[in-house]
Amino acid sequence: MGATFDLFTEPGATPVCSRAGCSSTASWRVNWRNPRIHAADRVKIWAACDDHCAFLADYLRSRSFPVQVTGIDEDLDALDDTTARVAGDGR
Ligand SMILES: [Zn+2]
Repeated sequence: MGATFDLFTEPGATPVCSRAGCSSTASWRVNWRNPRIHAADRVKIWAACDDHCAFLADYLRSRSFPVQVTGIDEDLDALDDTTARVAGDGR
């Protein structure tokens, strides 16, 4: 299970910012996971423009989710889970 975009799934589609009402081209990925419902190897992605990258990341961090921001073309296999308990490295 790799990373999955929440809001756009078409291959080759231009990623647009996930912030409601924003239609700017995204240049960042906000990678996150909800430890309560997502397995450790699950990565959800919100695309974000320059203006909303910090907003979206802070929104998720305020819910104590693991969050990592990467460039739009950068793939993450898993999130650094610094806030949740370490359940053993599966690799
Ligand atoms: Zn935006």
